[in-house]
Amino acid sequence: MPVYRWRLAPDGYATRRQLRALGLRPGGQDVAAQLERPRRHRGPLVAYLYLVDRAKPVRPMTPGRAEALAKAMAARRTCPACRRDAGYCIPRSLGMCVTCHDSAPALAA
Ligand SMILES: [Zn+2]
Repeated sequence: MPVYRWRLAPDGYATRRQLRALGLRPGGQDVAAQLERPRRHRGPLVAYLYLVDRAKPVRPMTPGRAEALAKAMAARRTCPACRRDAGYCIPRSLGMCVTCHDSAPALAA
């Protein structure tokens, strides 16, 4: 197993915590590499690295879940004022698409 110095891990590796931040889990893969940070008077601090390529989503994406997610995203992109898909998430601060906001400043105020 390759061992890297702390902060010198190559791209494509992540700790379990870093995977989690990406919404991923090791997914049954073995530890791919380890990081060692030397410490005085003690053994090195070791962190285990996993391959990002082989990581799996925290929750597997089922068709139902994908559909629910797509609906939720579509709802967030749909402007409540003009009912059009703005193509981006409606900013909460505006509560409507930028076009509506710009064309109806009085209504927004
Ligand atoms: Zn709009």
